[in-house]
Amino acid sequence: MARIIIMGPPGSGKGTQAVHIARHFGVPAISTGDLFRAHARDKTALGLEAGGYMDRGEFVPDHVTTHMLKQRLEDVDAANGFLLDGYPRTVIQIGALDELLAVRGQALEAVLALTVPDEELLARMLLRAKEQGRRDDTEDVIQRRLELYRDETQAVLSAYLQRGILLTIEGSGERENITTAAIAAVEKALAS
Ligand code: ADP
Repeated sequence: MARIIIMGPPGSGKGTQAVHIARHFGVPAISTGDLFRAHARDKTALGLEAGGYMDRGEFVPDHVTTHMLKQRLEDVDAANGFLLDGYPRTVIQIGALDELLAVRGQALEAVLALTVPDEELLARMLLRAKEQGRRDDTEDVIQRRLELYRDETQAVLSAYLQRGILLTIEGSGERENITTAAIAAVEKALAS
């Protein structure tokens, strides 16, 4: 069973890739953004708390996000493997995930990082705003999300690079080709 993280700036297509890659490995794709959006739709207490941060493009506080993820990881489908999309996003969250996994006696096998040029990201998200109407796909909120990725989440990539489990994948091009490249990179890592 694989335990994988997928990372990439907003608009990099990581949510789409996550679904396809997770299906290949027979694990659930767990997106913290999707979990928050489901809570917001259902107007749960958590959804009401997270919604304001999301609409501004800010991170939801670490302890709130980690608590939600911990609960999701307790579902049976995630017992042995999972593909995390959107977590960890901060250095604090790396430590929290390490602790969650240590309790389960599990290790991370691979961290996929999708790279896409900045100007392409903005264009993709403005298109998505038209197609899907995501509330946080307005130009100033997008800029804030890109800025946070640069300022906070790059440090997460560096940490996993130092651990030797970071796999960088070019995220521009055909969806299928990117999926194939990502799967091949993970399989190589699992075999070594
Ligand atoms: P994107 O990567 O396109 O910005 P996501 O769907 O992954 O979109 O996340 C949407 C929003 O959900 C984020 O802008 C943030 O407010 C919140 N969020 C998701 N994951 C986390 C996380 N790990 N820590 C804090 N906030 C998060």
